[in-house]
Amino acid sequence: MAAHQEKTTSEERKHKSTQNDTQTSQVQWGRAWEVDWFSLASILFLLMFAPLIVYYFVMSCDQYQCSLIDPLIDLLTGNKHLSDIWNKTPTLTYRAAAIYALWVTFQLFLYVFVPDFCHKFLPGYVGGVQEGAVTPAGVVNKYEINGLQAWIITHVLWFANAYYFHCFSPTIIFDNWIPLLWCANILGYAVSTFAMIKGYFFPTNAKDCKFTGNFFYDYMMGIEFNPRIGKWFDFKLFFNGRPGIVAWTLINLSYAAKQQELYGQVTNSMILVNVLQGIYVLDFFWNEAWYLKTIDICHDHFGWYLGWGDCVWLPYLYTLQGLYLVYHPVELRTANAIGILMLGLIGYYIFRMTNHQKDLFRRTNGNCKIWGKKPGYIECSYMSVDGTKYYSKLMTSGFWGWAHHFNYTGDLMGSLAYCLTCGFEHILPYFYIVYMTILLTHRCIRDEHRCFSKYGKDWKRYTAAVPYRLIPGIF
Ligand code: NDP
Repeated sequence: MAAHQEKTTSEERKHKSTQNDTQTSQVQWGRAWEVDWFSLASILFLLMFAPLIVYYFVMSCDQYQCSLIDPLIDLLTGNKHLSDIWNKTPTLTYRAAAIYALWVTFQLFLYVFVPDFCHKFLPGYVGGVQEGAVTPAGVVNKYEINGLQAWIITHVLWFANAYYFHCFSPTIIFDNWIPLLWCANILGYAVSTFAMIKGYFFPTNAKDCKFTGNFFYDYMMGIEFNPRIGKWFDFKLFFNGRPGIVAWTLINLSYAAKQQELYGQVTNSMILVNVLQGIYVLDFFWNEAWYLKTIDICHDHFGWYLGWGDCVWLPYLYTLQGLYLVYHPVELRTANAIGILMLGLIGYYIFRMTNHQKDLFRRTNGNCKIWGKKPGYIECSYMSVDGTKYYSKLMTSGFWGWAHHFNYTGDLMGSLAYCLTCGFEHILPYFYIVYMTILLTHRCIRDEHRCFSKYGKDWKRYTAAVPYRLIPGIF
């Protein structure tokens, strides 16, 4: 593991630069300093409507059997008023608040107080103390990678309870789904607001803070790059990984338990959703050290987008297929189930292999084999704010020679597979593929902007060598 770490840090050789013309432009490679009207309008739209979208989806399942159209028809024809829908919505309960508080506290405990032991006995797994990427201010943070362990402990306890202890019903999440939504919102807003105040008054690293001067933009996109409390509690790693992603598989298990309770069986579509999304979640934790080098950690500042998004958007909207299947237990024909499974697995393979190729390439500084050959690459350089010059490489082989983000293409194939498990009766389960397509296309463009600001003409050389973003020959 130590060797691995050494290679990771040696991937980028640095030199103190003297005067350099490109310095002024290249140190701007973090998040934007100025807000254009389109970004501001999008942010205001999201701040106003994202919480309503989540409510609308969950309410439509609770009150309208997951129909997205029927509530609108009821409202437009005057059959119902907003107040009728609101009055039927379950409120915050003490029970939900207790469950949620216990959940977050337990995840906090696992994150802060239980150092990773999985890397000591799982071959190939990289856990324990790991380094993140160089920040625009030239800082390299250390992280305690123990997400896989937290996931395993949580799920072992969940199954032990379901099959042995019976302290609570495995349907507990489904049964309290809307009251828990209020708790998740409280945490999401609290943590985003705290992060903003912290950014102003006691930032972890002042040089990595960004203020655009626009309150809404700063609140949404964050001020601090890597806010921390103490040496180890990292807001980004904690909120993105746990409680959100650890909960993802538990939520799906709770939906499966509800199907069993209601219909006496679990449908093959529900099993597929649990398996395919389970693979995705486990992959995330197995590769948590790799995650330190992704855009979430390397580019995004911590604001409402990540804070609220991780607490509310992710657990509520990424699990819509399982929720839908509780209301509509679809039993797929075997051929269809196999087709969907194959699509999901091929998508996962592409997603994983693309990410793996970049990781291997960067870890070994290009001294590796991709598809049996030494990879091609473009040498590039960039600056941090203190004027230090770094060198890096952009690979032009393997999936990275096909498109800038073939990992997103695989991700989208997997996302489509989740949705297809639900059949074609309703549009609600398809929200996920629509959302992921928008998210990842937008992310491609954001990443291009970032890489261009970071690498300048070197990035242009890469895009000339690899012109497509997601689908070779098309886009
Ligand atoms: P990538 O893992 O694709 O990372 C992009 C970064 O990789 C760039 O900023 C650049 O960073 C580096 N890079 C770009 N091109 C090359 C190249 N040719 N060779 C080497 N390095 C290169 O993007 P993300 O962080 O967005 O995504 C990580 C994964 O997470 C993806 O598989 C994505 O599908 C998934 N994802 C899932 C989401 C979900 O909600 N389910 C949301 C977002 C992502 P550098 O500065 O290091 O050069």
